[in-house]
Amino acid sequence: MNRKTLILLVILFVLIGFFPVRQSLINHFTGEMIYSSGGTAPVSEAKPVKSISDKIKKGETLSSIFSKYGMHSHELFEIKTALANVHSPREIRPGKPYSFTLDDENYINSFTYEIDDSTILKIERVDGCFQACKYNIPYETRILTIGGTIQNMLVSAFGSEKEDYLLALQMADILAWDIDFNTDIRTGDSFRIIVEGLYVDGKFKKYGRILSIEFVNNNQIYNAYLFEHDGKTDYYNADGQSLRRAFLKAPLSFRRISSYFSKSRLHPILKVRRPHHGIDYVAATGTPVSAVAEGTISFVGYKSGYGKIIILSHHNGYKTYYGHLSRFNKGIHKGKKVQQGDLIGYVGATGLATGPHLHYEMRQGNTPINPLKIKNVPGKPVPSAQMAEFRRQSQSMNNIFNVALFYDTKNTQRKNHSLQPALLYSSLSSASQQGKSSKN
Ligand SMILES: [Zn+2]
Repeated sequence: MNRKTLILLVILFVLIGFFPVRQSLINHFTGEMIYSSGGTAPVSEAKPVKSISDKIKKGETLSSIFSKYGMHSHELFEIKTALANVHSPREIRPGKPYSFTLDDENYINSFTYEIDDSTILKIERVDGCFQACKYNIPYETRILTIGGTIQNMLVSAFGSEKEDYLLALQMADILAWDIDFNTDIRTGDSFRIIVEGLYVDGKFKKYGRILSIEFVNNNQIYNAYLFEHDGKTDYYNADGQSLRRAFLKAPLSFRRISSYFSKSRLHPILKVRRPHHGIDYVAATGTPVSAVAEGTISFVGYKSGYGKIIILSHHNGYKTYYGHLSRFNKGIHKGKKVQQGDLIGYVGATGLATGPHLHYEMRQGNTPINPLKIKNVPGKPVPSAQMAEFRRQSQSMNNIFNVALFYDTKNTQRKNHSLQPALLYSSLSSASQQGKSSKN
């Protein structure tokens, strides 16, 4: 196939994607049944004449919902009995959608409740008894193309919806070995993301996996491609090298800081100073500090000047120092093994510090070294046997980057324009593909 034909094909797929496939409501419940309290098939006995759909309000219980709608209290008891071993009636959370269908005397025909993003609870009247089942929500997966330009902070470039915020964090996690999203971001940095959008009944519910990223930071381009092989999924650069490395770019995790300060949705403005051997991260007291690499705690305690400090020993004689901490994480003690990204302590101003900041330094033996100049050993690359497949998949991503429209993160239409999944799933191995398993 020559390039022109390919581009025309991709454009065709983009256009097909503009007409969303609608699924009927009944598809909510055709998914794989994961638990059933009884054996008989559901048979509806009476025609519902009334339905109630709402979200659980703060402080509401099943019992208060029953009295609110004037339903029969003995049915509450029967519903609770049917729920036994399926779902605790006490685990009814605010904000979750539910619905009842009732007959003309306010008796319940069915009750559904969305337990979480992927599970629905349904109770139906079968042969005069209530029967409770849990169902997987069968998502329809679409492919979205989303882009944006950063003015000051990553999160504000993603809009204010929770899903957009989670997408920003997902991207920051994937690139955390190359880019410190707290301090490396520059005005004018831009990104384009090819990501799964998960839909129910034609409505966007959440983002799935990021399939590919193109991120321009300070005029340098970073690429990430999702690739599955041997039952594992990971991200690689255009050459098939793993994006994971022995050391994270920074000890202050963008995700941790974001969730720590999520109440205000404003992150502390981080500044970086390099006045000596090491890096000072100016951050609010209490900001969580993460281990940059897998290692063992070789010192935890007080050292003059450094104040409260943790020293980690890593492979190849590397050590990392985290000084001026306000406190250590629970369970941190000498000899304890930590994993990359583990929370070890909190920023403070102990020792010789004029204000709260993290003193971070790296040594090999006792010689201080520049963390940015170490040989940062990458994770395993794409195995050579799968390289041809990887090239084919990354090329199909590049074709999308070349021809598809990328909708700005603030464009309200961004979730309504999708590429046809067939375009990708014909080429991507789809072991974890969701939403395709309707059982009828
Ligand atoms: Zn310092």
